[in-house]
Amino acid sequence: MQRAPVDARGASHDDERVGFVVTPEDRDWFDRCRRSWDFGARVRRNLERSVTRVPALDRIVRNALAVYYFPGMWTWSRSIVEPLVERSLHDAGFPYPAFDFVQAYARFAETVDHFTPLRVETEVDAHVLHPERSGAELAAPDGGAVLYRDRIHLFVVEETSGDDAYWLVVHRMLDDQHGWASPDQLALDERALLACWAWEHVFLVSVAGVQYNEVRVSPPEFRRERIAYTDAEKSGAARRLAIRAAQMIAAPPLGLDPTPQWEHCARCEFRAPCVALNRGEDATALLAERYRPRPPDELEPGRLGGQSWGMGRGAAPPRFGD
Ligand code: SF4
Repeated sequence: MQRAPVDARGASHDDERVGFVVTPEDRDWFDRCRRSWDFGARVRRNLERSVTRVPALDRIVRNALAVYYFPGMWTWSRSIVEPLVERSLHDAGFPYPAFDFVQAYARFAETVDHFTPLRVETEVDAHVLHPERSGAELAAPDGGAVLYRDRIHLFVVEETSGDDAYWLVVHRMLDDQHGWASPDQLALDERALLACWAWEHVFLVSVAGVQYNEVRVSPPEFRRERIAYTDAEKSGAARRLAIRAAQMIAAPPLGLDPTPQWEHCARCEFRAPCVALNRGEDATALLAERYRPRPPDELEPGRLGGQSWGMGRGAAPPRFGD
């Protein structure tokens, strides 16, 4: 039974409208710098840079791995599937030899894939819990639901000794800045914990943890790490999310002062207007010239409430967006 959302002051609402959506990126930037969050968050100024987006390498590889693990083709001969994966890479502009990458990945995967894929690239919307009222869900000031939205790379089942264990698989791309993750880094992966919690919250199935699929594209290198997460870790992350979400929708709004630190400013797409504002200048013209409203969310295959993919044998793989 669906629980009615309750606003931060404790008033109950029956309204099932979506009032506020929190993404992992919103959550991260809210903690790093409120000014950047204010510029970019969909529920705030909702801006992005006016440049043509080129699919990032990690998205190109993730889309190809979604073809590799597409449930409807899992029992097909790999000699049929691997050329489809290679074509996905090639068509998306993968800048390295696609055949070599796919062959290297297939050799690695057959030693560690002890599961059956059930869903790939699936968006999940989970109702954020109320930070103070046990069993209640948080409502936005307009009475609509507050949702946490993330995209799950892969959901799998392992059958061991007659028991089914469900896992999320996260594809983690390595590059010059990001090497193999340490055990503590994975144990403290807040986004992964929230992904487990959100999946459990929506599908009412227990998730054992995350299998990290670490991928370096050139030269191709791979590693698989299994991190089991406890219920206490998952519920702790959900509680921290609830507190942050309540702060985001607080009335009156929290201060939006910038928090400059080069570690995150280097990755901030709002550096130019931020510097202008810090100098006491008017950033209105700069924002109008170089930024635009983010396009609306598209309903993507696999999203709850959206189109479902065929899972049976013979089902064609989907085309994945950027
Ligand atoms: S440049 Fe730094 S201080 Fe300015 S908005 Fe971005 S993250 Fe915040």
